[in-house]
Amino acid sequence: MPDIIKLLPDSVANQIAAGEVIQRPASVVKELMENSVDAGSKYIRVIIKDAGSSLVHVIDDGTGMSETDCRLSFERHATSKIIKAEDLFAINTKGFRGEALASIAAVAMVEIKSCLHDSELGTIIKINGSKVEMQEPASCPPGTNIAVKNLFYNVPARRKFLKTPSTEMRHIINEFQKVVLAHPDIRFSLHHNDKELFNLPHSNERQRIIAVFGKNMNQNLINLHTETSLVKIRGFIGKPENARKTFGEQFFFINNRYMRHPYLHKAVMGAYENILPPDEIPSYFIFLHADPATIDVNIHPTKTEVKFENERMIWQILHASVRESLGKFNIVPSLDFDNEGVIDIPLPGKEPAGMPGIDINSDFNPFRDEDNYKDLKRDFERKRDSNLKGWDKLYAGLDKGDSESIIPDKEFDDKQRQTPAMGPEKIFQVRNKYIICPVKSGLLIIDQKRAHERILYEKFIEALKSDTVVAQRSLFPKTLELDQADLALLSEIEEEVKNCGIDIRYLGSNTISINSQPSASMNEDPVEMLEIILEEYKSTEKGPGDSNREKVAVCMSRAAAVPYGRPLEITEIRDLIDKLFKCANPNYTPSGKAIISIITLDELEKRLR
Ligand code: ADP
Ligand code: MG
Repeated sequence: MPDIIKLLPDSVANQIAAGEVIQRPASVVKELMENSVDAGSKYIRVIIKDAGSSLVHVIDDGTGMSETDCRLSFERHATSKIIKAEDLFAINTKGFRGEALASIAAVAMVEIKSCLHDSELGTIIKINGSKVEMQEPASCPPGTNIAVKNLFYNVPARRKFLKTPSTEMRHIINEFQKVVLAHPDIRFSLHHNDKELFNLPHSNERQRIIAVFGKNMNQNLINLHTETSLVKIRGFIGKPENARKTFGEQFFFINNRYMRHPYLHKAVMGAYENILPPDEIPSYFIFLHADPATIDVNIHPTKTEVKFENERMIWQILHASVRESLGKFNIVPSLDFDNEGVIDIPLPGKEPAGMPGIDINSDFNPFRDEDNYKDLKRDFERKRDSNLKGWDKLYAGLDKGDSESIIPDKEFDDKQRQTPAMGPEKIFQVRNKYIICPVKSGLLIIDQKRAHERILYEKFIEALKSDTVVAQRSLFPKTLELDQADLALLSEIEEEVKNCGIDIRYLGSNTISINSQPSASMNEDPVEMLEIILEEYKSTEKGPGDSNREKVAVCMSRAAAVPYGRPLEITEIRDLIDKLFKCANPNYTPSGKAIISIITLDELEKRLR
């Protein structure tokens, strides 16, 4: 049999590559705009005819190209942006694969004019379906001007595949938005069939977002800002009340490149957990900056998918960052309802939450030096006092009988139906899981276990910092057997565990005894408690800035917290609420789960309309 393998002609190879890189007119818009950005342009104009099927025209004032470069730029794998393989790990440009122009020229009629800033004459080249039809010197302004006409004219199957003009235009606008949001310092305009759709002066990120999405966006943006050695996060997240049921305003940028990142999207969504109905999606515009050596943008031909070296860490940092911003801005307005000033709980969210819970500065160690600790302690106490003051006011409101209209719903079991008899506070426990408390703005809902976790956490942290043992309850020693792995783990955290009130003795041959447990523990079974601590310790990721003590405190608080399903006496409920609002951060558990939520009167009224 004769040899049958042949090398494909470039024109065919380019057409095949074009299938990946150029899927529709919007891909051309993206690639050309990105080239203009890479060329250092200050002003980039995009002109579209017939949703890009007859013309995509991009004019920039960037560096321009020499005659040779202009010709070479249409060769496959022709790029000025990387030279050697190592450069792939230090990419600061949008492009680097050198395929876009070759791909576009394979499936369209292209006319390019380009001129270097210090040249008198530029170059004009015409290429149809990879074939150079004309190349001449031409006088043209500095910069590059590329017109891509009749996309897919030579690939009828693909041309047919194009969707309606409005759909294709929507894709173009999407791509345009991604580039302009990533580069607010560049001026951009977009015209379609002689109509100006966008004209965006150079500005900052916030102004650019507003210029693109409209003035209403202004009130919707909550600042996001976290800097760690691994990643810097800046940007904005949308307020929960403006979340929508459809995707559209969710943007991640890594080093000024738009990226799709379903995994990190979950970090953001997770932070909104319990704040938003599960089918609603908040807007976000999140700009991440990381060392290019720690990311890989070369995993997909269109480079919209990016792989991070430390993805799980970044997930946590992002989640914590969004949580923190929401904590500052979210719960507060819903409690800040009252016109008569009867109830005003100044939750810590109003001030920057310095401590504790989720510390995202990876260099930050609250235990490292005395001064640091004193600052934190002062901060902590100030917040605690202001919470307490606010909480007293809340009671004042309740005593005035503001809750008269609250009728238990049909899900309340019999025990709870009697709760009005609980006293003047009218506090309910529902399903032995939630505590419901009428407040002036509606119904305050508290997750009992999470509330207790928060209280215990702060207590344990205090104990660990000051090296004082939390008051212990003596108990008849309980013994249990552990395997080697658990024994080793226990010896690692033994000191912290002891400080939090669990006294452990080693009895030899894998057996230990537990001689005390924290006074505040609501878990009566010390053996179960220790098992939970070990389990939690194994499965809990340490937060980026967390010390071992914080992790132990988190695990201990989970193990010792009042479990769901436990009926609480009214005095216990009051105590829980009191202690919760004395916490530095009553809004969230140390791991970032919402503790409290409010059903506003408005919502109640809407339900019964
Ligand atoms: P890549 O962007 O991956 O390098 P492209 O095919 O998009 O590949 O472009 C090839 C080369 O052409 C670029 O590396 C750049 O040197 C040059 N080029 C393309 N567009 C422009 C432009 N608007 N201004 C200046 N140079 C450009
Ligand atoms: Mg390019």
